[in-house]
Amino acid sequence: MSVTGLYIHVPFCFSKCDYCGFYSIVPQESYVINRYLDHLKKYIDKWFKLDYISKNIKSIFIGGGNPTMLGLKGIRFLIETIADHLDLEQIEEITIETNPETLSEDIAGYLAEIPQIRLSMGIQRLQNDELILLGRNARINSVIRALDTAFNSFDNISADFILGVPNCPSIASELQKLIEDYPFKHISAYFLSVEENTPLQRKVDDGKLQDPNDIGPEEMFAVAEVLEKHGFEHYEISNYAKPGYRCKHNLGYWNNDDYIGFGPAAVSCINNIRYSEVPCLDKWLNGTSPEKEELSLIDQRNEYLMLHLRLLIEGLDLDVFEKKYGLQKEDFYKNLNRHISSGELIKKDNIICLSNLGMVMANDVISDLFQ
Ligand code: SF4
Repeated sequence: MSVTGLYIHVPFCFSKCDYCGFYSIVPQESYVINRYLDHLKKYIDKWFKLDYISKNIKSIFIGGGNPTMLGLKGIRFLIETIADHLDLEQIEEITIETNPETLSEDIAGYLAEIPQIRLSMGIQRLQNDELILLGRNARINSVIRALDTAFNSFDNISADFILGVPNCPSIASELQKLIEDYPFKHISAYFLSVEENTPLQRKVDDGKLQDPNDIGPEEMFAVAEVLEKHGFEHYEISNYAKPGYRCKHNLGYWNNDDYIGFGPAAVSCINNIRYSEVPCLDKWLNGTSPEKEELSLIDQRNEYLMLHLRLLIEGLDLDVFEKKYGLQKEDFYKNLNRHISSGELIKKDNIICLSNLGMVMANDVISDLFQ
């Protein structure tokens, strides 16, 4: 098998959001960013000499953190380093994440020249008090400024939102206005989750904030309705796209393709071995080896099942699944039929999909089918 996706983790943010469980730091000096870029170049130069790594890359995702924290000079260095090894014209999709506070006109102008570029902006909420509650740095005026900059330069723009924020009304009607004003091609909308050792967790533990896990799914259905009405397909539990604009890189993950990740906390999966880079910039710079985990056949099976059931339109093709992992134990079919009878799963021509009801309890339904 060959690697089809390249992920680069940029571990820098302008400030830390209260709910954030991703690995990132706020760099105090610019030399920290330079050291990161120099080290990243060494990785890219080393690994991309190997044909099985570089030959079939179809998608690149530069995520974080906030990649536009690298500044124009840093982004140019990173793109040129990649372009030393890959013909960017041949890559089907190149995504770069950004946050409104760091998307300058210079950066947008440079990025817009990259072939097949896709910009993914972290917006999260559309009211200042809600952004403040989440500990976000940007306010609505800088979100709008960044959107104007982005839509002047890019065609393919995605935005991320957070649902289920305690004490906040549904985002659906503001989102409707936003997508009428700005022609996004893709929207991701994830529920707020309480990550360990975050200010959000402390607030929830201290009883200062309602536990987001106790918030119902109504906002998701309202958002889905607005987006579907405006021509978006709900193709994955948390993702919506205009026709032809699904995220190719993430589809690679969901289809179990091999991928390589560079940078602290980045993950690679090659031939069913998962390599996780250390989530610490200093240790990564000092050459700490990635943690290696061989995925057992059961791990592979469970992951395949989970990722395919999250795809709401394609779903899980039972014939393909059984061809890959053999006839399943009796329990699997019993649980499957139980979820079909109770309406959480829908079966059509041997394709199994989550229903609206199933989406609400997707984790429980899917884990019932695990071995
Ligand atoms: S911008 Fe993203 S990565 Fe950075 S702190 Fe906020 S949630 Fe975390």
